[in-house]
Amino acid sequence: MESELTKNVSAGTTIFHEGEPGDCAYIIQNGEIELSMLINGKDSVFATLKKGELFGEMALIDNNFRSASALAKTDVELLTISRDYISKKIEFSDPTIRMLLQVVLERYRDIHARLHDVSESLDEHESTSANSSISSFFSQYLKLSSKLASAITHQHASHHTSDNINKDLESTSDSITKENNLKHALDNNEFELYYQPIVNLSQNTIAGCEALIRWNSPTLGFTPPDQFINLAEKTGLIIPMGQWITKQACLAAHDFRKHQNIYMSINLSTRQFESDSFMADIENAVKEANISNDCIKLEITESILMSNPELAESALNQLKAAGFSIAIDDFGTGYSSFSYLHRFPIDTLKIDQSFVNAMFSNKRSMQIVRTLSQLAKNLDMKTIAEGVEEKNESQQLDGFGCDYGQGYMYSRPVPYDDFLKLLKHDSLPVASPAN
Ligand code: C2E
Ligand code: CA
Ligand code: CA
Repeated sequence: MESELTKNVSAGTTIFHEGEPGDCAYIIQNGEIELSMLINGKDSVFATLKKGELFGEMALIDNNFRSASALAKTDVELLTISRDYISKKIEFSDPTIRMLLQVVLERYRDIHARLHDVSESLDEHESTSANSSISSFFSQYLKLSSKLASAITHQHASHHTSDNINKDLESTSDSITKENNLKHALDNNEFELYYQPIVNLSQNTIAGCEALIRWNSPTLGFTPPDQFINLAEKTGLIIPMGQWITKQACLAAHDFRKHQNIYMSINLSTRQFESDSFMADIENAVKEANISNDCIKLEITESILMSNPELAESALNQLKAAGFSIAIDDFGTGYSSFSYLHRFPIDTLKIDQSFVNAMFSNKRSMQIVRTLSQLAKNLDMKTIAEGVEEKNESQQLDGFGCDYGQGYMYSRPVPYDDFLKLLKHDSLPVASPAN
């Protein structure tokens, strides 16, 4: 099957010609290709490449012409890597590797040009033996630059054995495929929001819920967010994805609130937070769903605050003035600077699940949870303990004055319909931890 990423080429077809500008590189998925160059008017083959190998990357790296021709020796299936993909990888790679690659390529181009000049001045006999040395030189050179290119695409230059290179190429082709699938996932309606209850610890009632995204991918199956949120951030897809999340979560909040007066927590990513349309997106979503701003809590991480404190301060003040609540997610795992607890208008601390899990096995974790609950109270903030899995944890947290708990003890994140059922049962079904 051919897609915008894969290309099938029949045996005997030229994939690209020496001297042409290059707009993409390839990884061989199946079949064999031959690389050749014209030396003294003769086509000299200098490499045969097989499944898992990369070619055509040089013209992309230095924005130059194709230094060789590529011919399909058998029927081949190729994975296409765009110029844009390579450029981004180079831009974010280690500067030393970037420089090394540039030097290697410049020398390659230089020697390529000189050898052509020299070979033209040789007689036929000299030229035949020179051609085979030249081919062997290019073959060695190809291996070297291919290692560097691979180092660039994976940003760790060390230990590049051929086994590692193959693994790198495999993971490059996986991540290109994933990125492409992710791009279409929104249009194909493959995302779904799950909802996890946030429970009032002293009353054992649902006070709110957190919207958590899932990807029902036709190729990868049911995929949790830690396997695609970073990629969505890197590629910028998080912006349209975030708009979709906000819209869906607000619509769900409207429906849920017909049954109980609960709030909706929405996770925000750094890039989304920094986008120009962010404030308008959230206000529109709330308006369209016909709910008020004060039933939406926005969960942000410490890294959002640290990466651009000025922007964060003005955006959070704006959100706060508009009536939204702000929670700090995973509190205690990042920089945990107390300075931002008074600098930013934060309503809620979400105590990271690592402290909650360790409460009964580590005295310090117990003290951290107690101190954070007390600190939040003194600062007039609410606390939510994450990852509550056991009854003794919820009791201890309630004893510390922690306001809310969220975790498998109450319920795992569940689809929309199941969450509605949870709300319709007046009392919380306490799921077993193994559920
Ligand atoms: P998070 O915001 O800290 O979300 C809580 C995570 O803890 C969720 O994982 C939830 O399923 C899990 N969890 C809840 N209770 C328990 C428990 O009792 N025990 C354990 N072990 N885990 C529990 P999930 O849904 O896989 O999400 C992982 C992360 O992905 C989230 O961490 C959040 O950073 C990100 N994420 C999820 N949905 C969204 C989204 O819509 N937008 C953005 N930007 N990020 C999201
Ligand atoms: Ca969260
Ligand atoms: Ca969290």
